[in-house]
Amino acid sequence: MMTKLERWLHGLSHPLEKKPVNNAIFAGFTVMLLHGSYFLWKVYIVLHPDLHQFVNISIFFREMLVTVAIFFSFLMLIITLDQTRKNPTISNRLVFLMLLLISLSMAYQGYTFGSMSLPSGVMLIGATVVGFILFDRRSVYWVSVIAGVILVTTTVAAIIGWLPYAPKLLESNFPTDQPAAVFLLINMLMVVVPAYLTIMLIADYFIDQLKRRTLQLQHLSERDPLTQLSNRRVIYEYLAQHHPRMDIQWRRHIVVMLDIDFFKKVNDQWGHFVGDQVLQYVATLLQGLAESGDIVGRFGGEEFIVIMPTDQLERAIVFAERCQQQLSTYQFKPIEGVTDQLSASFGIASASKGVGATAQSLEQLIEFADQGLYRAKQAGRARTVVV
Ligand code: GH3
Ligand code: MG
Ligand code: MG
Repeated sequence: MMTKLERWLHGLSHPLEKKPVNNAIFAGFTVMLLHGSYFLWKVYIVLHPDLHQFVNISIFFREMLVTVAIFFSFLMLIITLDQTRKNPTISNRLVFLMLLLISLSMAYQGYTFGSMSLPSGVMLIGATVVGFILFDRRSVYWVSVIAGVILVTTTVAAIIGWLPYAPKLLESNFPTDQPAAVFLLINMLMVVVPAYLTIMLIADYFIDQLKRRTLQLQHLSERDPLTQLSNRRVIYEYLAQHHPRMDIQWRRHIVVMLDIDFFKKVNDQWGHFVGDQVLQYVATLLQGLAESGDIVGRFGGEEFIVIMPTDQLERAIVFAERCQQQLSTYQFKPIEGVTDQLSASFGIASASKGVGATAQSLEQLIEFADQGLYRAKQAGRARTVVV
């Protein structure tokens, strides 16, 4: 049984699985912490009478009460979200409510601080970016538009004189005396730094996860699941990259095709599981013999392909020989009266020598190698035919 904390942490470490409830709880907690840090800064100001000259201390307590109310709203909403996660209709609405609460509480902070200030900008942009990472885009557009409208409206109201601008601070213009300016700077940093760090940490973490996931997906889309060799997708991509139109040097290629002999018998005699093990063995073998730059792929069931970017035909022939030799040493689990030796048939075609030199593309070179393979089978298997 997972505890609640473990469940939340699990949700957090899998943010790309789009669990809106977990993400809303996480976002709620984070914003609560931010409000908490601003609250502590306000407490510090209240406790230091020498700082009272810089702020509008008469509304300070009212503002602190609002912060406490915001804090409890978050707490209530987080608890309710956690309780209703089994009811998607309600929890979806509560997730939107959480976004609204985040945006309204941030807009309020922005207003008390001055809507045309760096902290407001950092919060508006940062919250929107984090919002896009964690939540459905449409909801984020909505709440950031609402927050933006509030910030603009309060600024306009301040211009007309209906509302004070940055009511927390006495001076809305940049002060000329040094202590007040220093206070203003520290006051700004106290708001900007926690918000900035939070935004950066979250964005960095999630983007890192996204990159990892992309690499995983790329690996999965390129590999054959049984043997981990390149699949046909990779081979076709390679053919496209080295198409005669794209690569004037494309003739520097040799294709080796191989097919395990009597593989059906292996399956029949030893079972499919052993058959799979043989395929994995062959894959490891081919990769061990291949050089860097070679493409080793599983072309079909028990048919493999090696594309070598070279014109050294000798290298391909030695490759096939070594492979054949190592196949013959494969040890099946001994069963009385049954002896089996693994072998394969090889077809080799070089784009610069022999029949292969008449190929018009790598695709055709593969066809030639396949014809060589077919002839090796016809001639009695366990051999190599170079076309
Ligand atoms: P040949 O010497 O002419 O190549 O004979 P063969 O028996 O190797 O060829 P055939 O095409 O008749 O049989 C291929 C067999 O490979 C049939 C199929 O069940 C088996 N096979 C294909 N993919 C897999 C796989 O992923 N795992 C296992 N265990 N067997 C597979
Ligand atoms: Mg076969
Ligand atoms: Mg076959």
